[in-house]
Amino acid sequence: MYIRKCGDLLMDEFEFINSIKQADYKNASLIKGVGDDAAVFRQTNQDIVTAVDTFVENVHFSKQTMPLFFIGYRALAANISDMAAMGAKPVFYLASITIPSFWPMKEVQEVFSGLDACAKEYEMDLIGGDTVSGKELTLSVTIIGYVDKGKARYRNQAKIDDIVFVTGTLGDSRAGLELLLDGKTSDSENHFFINRHQKPTPRVGFSIGLSDLCRVSLNDVSDGIANEAAEIAEASCVNIIIEDEFIPVSDSFSQFPKALQYNWKYFGGEDFELLGTASEENYEYITEIGRQTDTKVTRIGYVKARDSSQATVMLKKNKIMSPLNKEGYTHLK
Ligand code: ADP
Ligand code: MG
Repeated sequence: MYIRKCGDLLMDEFEFINSIKQADYKNASLIKGVGDDAAVFRQTNQDIVTAVDTFVENVHFSKQTMPLFFIGYRALAANISDMAAMGAKPVFYLASITIPSFWPMKEVQEVFSGLDACAKEYEMDLIGGDTVSGKELTLSVTIIGYVDKGKARYRNQAKIDDIVFVTGTLGDSRAGLELLLDGKTSDSENHFFINRHQKPTPRVGFSIGLSDLCRVSLNDVSDGIANEAAEIAEASCVNIIIEDEFIPVSDSFSQFPKALQYNWKYFGGEDFELLGTASEENYEYITEIGRQTDTKVTRIGYVKARDSSQATVMLKKNKIMSPLNKEGYTHLK
């Protein structure tokens, strides 16, 4: 138990928990939310999918580039993106927070209002967590989602001759981060990139829309597609070819130096888009789901038989193939 200052008020842990507790819950499968020793929910028809992500101040975010509200918003959005990558509907989350003693309670509540705003957008409920004090701000979010039985989407489902597709545009989040670090926040064009960094849009509707497909492999873009494609290729024992000319980027992405564009779209990461593979005959259906869910979908490559003499992911550019691995990152002075 600790007592902290919140504005002019002194607030204890109990009051804090009460202040972040939802007045009501949206999901009918919840039996007991915040307020007892643990939460209880009942699910008999679907598979339960769960994941956790932890964010440490000055490692995963900094107050310099992330308003408190978006620290919360983005932490939950990153978890939701994992649900989308599994084909699951996000339903509940638990938030464990370590608060440094010098952080005013008002600021902690601002982080929680970001979590809450994101939860509302995806109709999720906060059903528990933990609140402790410690040296630096750490926010750990556990997420729970539902997927139709046997319909979770795995990385090991890519097959030879599949097409490779990606949602949205790539590199925007990293561009936004760099603009924030450079203090270039006033320009309205820059605002697009900054918004993509601070307020990601995990592709839940699109992913659930694919549920009728009998096979699709999915991975969310949290480390850059070079990495995500390698994860699919390795899990599926195949090679993936990415075609540079098809990589989708946003309209004003060309304003950045070419080498940065290259780094950001392949290695920038944190776009929270979905990278997937499916059989070519399903691609039209996938683009139709994209239209229905307002999700841009682009075909960016194909799957080949495993060839251990090559890197698992190859980039085809001007008809020349080269390995697309992290060592390919262009270092700029
Ligand atoms: P216990 O001592 O039994 O672990 P706590 O005092 O830690 O209980 O928590 C009481 C209730 O408040 C529990 O339902 C717990 O899940 C919830 N809770 C605590 N901290 C948070 C938090 N940061 N976010 C959401 N719920 C929380
Ligand atoms: Mg506890």
